[in-house]
Amino acid sequence: MPLLEVKGLQVEFRTHDAAVRAVNGVSFTLEEGETLGIVGESGSGKSQSVLAMLGLLASNGRAKGEALYRGENLLGMPDRALNRIRGNRLSMIFQDPMSSLNPYLTIERQMTEVLELHKNLTRREAKKRAIAMLEAVRIPEAAHRIGQYPHELSGGMRQRVMIAMALLCEPEVLFADEPTTALDVTVQAQVLQLLRDLQRDFGTSIVLITHDLGVVAGLCEKVMVMYGGRVMEQCDAATLFAKPSHPYTIGLLRALPRLDQQGGELAGIPGNPPNMAHPPAGCPFHERCADATAECAEREPALETVRTSGAHATHWLRACHRPVDAMTTRYQESNHV
Ligand code: SF4
Repeated sequence: MPLLEVKGLQVEFRTHDAAVRAVNGVSFTLEEGETLGIVGESGSGKSQSVLAMLGLLASNGRAKGEALYRGENLLGMPDRALNRIRGNRLSMIFQDPMSSLNPYLTIERQMTEVLELHKNLTRREAKKRAIAMLEAVRIPEAAHRIGQYPHELSGGMRQRVMIAMALLCEPEVLFADEPTTALDVTVQAQVLQLLRDLQRDFGTSIVLITHDLGVVAGLCEKVMVMYGGRVMEQCDAATLFAKPSHPYTIGLLRALPRLDQQGGELAGIPGNPPNMAHPPAGCPFHERCADATAECAEREPALETVRTSGAHATHWLRACHRPVDAMTTRYQESNHV
């Protein structure tokens, strides 16, 4: 049984005007110790998928489908039962640590509270464990820093504290929502290395949410590319980088800076993601896709298995009427990926 199995997840928000479907039919599995990257631009549904699983949707949001953690459906689970799992077995770190850390409490109080609640430790035991975790995420002078308030720490240091807090109860799954976006490039690299090391040392499974395929390259074994609330392509990371087959994936890859192409402009994807209150008919990407045909505007492509790929036999899934296999020459000529 997979550690986490999500089947047909849908997320809908009620607004004054209409029901907005932010996530439409997302399915994936996560095994123990595995890292999955969920990639897409803002509004693709990647964050809402994870918030739905953890019961953290806004009050006008509703989730349908199944999110099975060790066989138990998290969706619709009573709050008390979900609270026991969340922050303990399943943990989350957010993009902006300042909005997640309490500015009025010291790091010590925020960390020990979690351990007292979930692990029944005494304050003294909890402090000892908290300092050890701050040391594990390489906070210098952890015994001193633990007495400080969030505003006394740098942005990179606060993100490390968030990671330490998320790992305090040794969760089985760590959900990381754009954990490096607010950080400068050097600190970004340090935080990603830290996640790699922690995964190696603690065996934690990671679901990494990001708009940046470059971040996925260094950390993830599996990738799910989302657009307009739907899965566009899903496979192991090695296959995705070697043979991206969906025009949207290729667009994301072309937007990445490359060491062997200095000085050239990055090729962003023209246009904007769809307004999910009024999603386009057909393929959600057709208004921005250079390969779109009339069929793309009329008929939504189904998510189909291309083949089973990679060492872990990941299914390679793709939703496109004109995938890259049919465009190989043009794709190679572009020499961007
Ligand atoms: Fe582009 Fe058509 Fe494929 Fe959508 S289905 S990604 S519009 S080629």
